[in-house]
Amino acid sequence: MNVIAQKPKTENIIIFTMDGMRWQEVFGGIDSVILNNPEYTHEKDDIKSFLWSDDITERRKKLFPFLWNTVAQKGQLYGNRAYGNYINVANPYAFSYPGYNEIFTGYPDTAVNSNDKIPNKNENVLEFINKQKAYKNKVAAFSTWDVSPYFLNKWRSGIYVNADKDSVSFDSNTSNLINDIQHLSMKPNGERLDIVTYIAAREYLKKTRPKVLYISFDETDEYAHQGKYNYYLGAAHAEDGMMSDIWNLVQSMPEYKNKTTLIVTCDHGRGDKIKSQWRDHGQKVEDAGGIWLAVVGPDTPPAGEMKSPGQLYQKQIAATVAALLGFEFKPAIPAGEKIQSILK
Ligand SMILES: [Zn+2]
Repeated sequence: MNVIAQKPKTENIIIFTMDGMRWQEVFGGIDSVILNNPEYTHEKDDIKSFLWSDDITERRKKLFPFLWNTVAQKGQLYGNRAYGNYINVANPYAFSYPGYNEIFTGYPDTAVNSNDKIPNKNENVLEFINKQKAYKNKVAAFSTWDVSPYFLNKWRSGIYVNADKDSVSFDSNTSNLINDIQHLSMKPNGERLDIVTYIAAREYLKKTRPKVLYISFDETDEYAHQGKYNYYLGAAHAEDGMMSDIWNLVQSMPEYKNKTTLIVTCDHGRGDKIKSQWRDHGQKVEDAGGIWLAVVGPDTPPAGEMKSPGQLYQKQIAATVAALLGFEFKPAIPAGEKIQSILK
């Protein structure tokens, strides 16, 4: 039989990463054990009145309204272990740079084993897409963490990367305002706020209409390490709102409407079995390799929460991103296969 692959409807992709965001809260909402520990949750009553429900499906919807109202209706969510649905990092490290390397290059690399500012030797899928004719100079990344330019190797890859202290310069009024907020705001984590990363990315999208846009958030990981559960939840909830905001925006723009796939994932998980380890991740934390993945777009069947047992890996995301645009991403080293259920 002569099978002619149907061309995907996706022409644009927006990728979000939430650094170290646990699958436990994505699928279960607030964890009551951590919530009720005063060491981790200050002003418990405030966060409870805002984000708590005794019902787990209501609870996760309160924390992540965009994921559970929009993506769950129109797209797919992978990683609920209650159904035996797994997605994990394939790298042995369960921390940031190895995770981002795996997401974007399509394979774990044991030579990528620190968060040091070393330009990544491996080609990434954004770089690969930027080499395709219709996508040249149409791929951009905005990041809170200042190591993103290194894992994406902006010097070689040729994609536009704007991170942490980088200012923006696309339109005098808007960019001056964004730059002022960036430079004058409090920086509780020593880097620009995720909202600044987001607004800079959103205005860049309006101004230059990239076809692939990557937005990299960091606050969830920072607040988790600090043991501030209310801030970790607040950051997660705010970032869900930013995803909703950009999804609504692109659905109002003819270049993007019904032609854009949105993907959300994380670089690593965190501990859970030993409850105090919710703050931590890495090789020594048993649960830290567990991640999650959410996808919504015109090529993805609206299966919602994936309830069939299975095992996917972070290394499969790169090939999936390429396949959604109709490309086959084949790095020199055998990479993860695309996730077939995300494509019609
Ligand atoms: Zn971390």
